[in-house]
Parts: sequence; C-alpha cells; structure tokens
Amino acid sequence: MVRKALRISRGGAPKATWEERKIAIRAKALRSYERRRLAGDLTEKDFVWCLDCERAWYRRNRWTWCPGEGCDGGGAGDLWPWARIRAVNRGYPEIPMPGERYGQYGVEV
Ligand SMILES: [Zn+2]
Repeated sequence: MVRKALRISRGGAPKATWEERKIAIRAKALRSYERRRLAGDLTEKDFVWCLDCERAWYRRNRWTWCPGEGCDGGGAGDLWPWARIRAVNRGYPEIPMPGERYGQYGVEV
C-alpha cells in the first residue's frame, strides 16, 4: 500500500509526489518525441526499454530510471537500449511508441 504523500511546502502549495512529477516528465518527453519524429530525426538510439514494465520510452537527458506510471524500474540493468530488445524481437519497429508495451519475448496474443 502506497501512502499518498501530500506534504505542504513553505509556499503552501502541495508538494508533487514522484508519480505526479513523472506525469509531467512523460508529457514533456512526448512533446520532444513528436517534434523529432515529425522532423524525421529519431533513431533507435533515442529509445530505452524497461525490464520492469516492458515499455519503450523516448529517453531525454540520459534517464537512469523509468518514467512509467507506477514503475520503479531503474538503476543497473533495468533500462535496456531499444536495439537490444529489437535484436531478439525482429518484428519490433525501429522507432517505438513511447509508453507502449513491448513484451520481452514478443507481443502476447
Ligand atoms: Zn518501467
């Protein structure tokens, strides 16, 4: 059970929890992804895949943690280069959809 932290900062505004911050982080990353996708500027190197939630993410600022909702993935070995998961799943696209789930051993039917 996760206790929702609603601490009051000096300014009186509620302090955002990590999950709330991740919502903003994902939105910002998605805008950057869209801009670069439209410019045809993305490569598979711009993406990581999380071993915990099995989702692909467009990585900004060299994240070492997963921005996924409710996911604690991060640290050593959790975030794989997208190329690594593609190497064993030949059907996966070069440019994945951020936040989309791609199973470690293929898409479940
Ligand atoms: Zn994750």
